[in-house]
Amino acid sequence: MELSAAYRFCPRCGRPRQPNAVDRPFRCQACHYTSFFGPVTAVGAVITNEKGQVLLIERARDPGKGLLGMPGGFIDQNETAEFAVRREILEEVGISVGDLSYLMTAPNRYVYQGIVNPVIDIFFYSKVASGQAIQAESSEVSAWIWTDLSTVILDRIAFRSNRLALEKFMQLS
Ligand SMILES: [Zn+2]
Repeated sequence: MELSAAYRFCPRCGRPRQPNAVDRPFRCQACHYTSFFGPVTAVGAVITNEKGQVLLIERARDPGKGLLGMPGGFIDQNETAEFAVRREILEEVGISVGDLSYLMTAPNRYVYQGIVNPVIDIFFYSKVASGQAIQAESSEVSAWIWTDLSTVILDRIAFRSNRLALEKFMQLS
């Protein structure tokens, strides 16, 4: 179900939504509360080692459980994208990275509890500081690999936005 369709009541005053309302944004007829259903912002990182291999993680939970992705996650309130991506990398794989370079953005659709949440993913690329061992956070990461990118690998990527970012990165290098 689309997020906008899940708004059956106004979250401020509780008035039921008009039947068949397709307002985007949602506008409450009673209190005029408005929700824009804007995308939430997430970050992802293409991290390379000294051999030029890319760090990919196997997702420990849905969406995309068992498929591959790159370290990343949602930006918290009052965080910059740069801070958030470093935090997520540290939380998920226990490493710090060098300078961040901007790669691209891509829209994503994150299905959680049956609701499709619109997301905008911001991708960076960076190099791992040498001599650091990966320490995966097992609730989010079931395995990890340093790998050369290939079609076989890209076919195992969970999200289209992540795949697009890896394809863009391959064009750079
Ligand atoms: Zn209302």
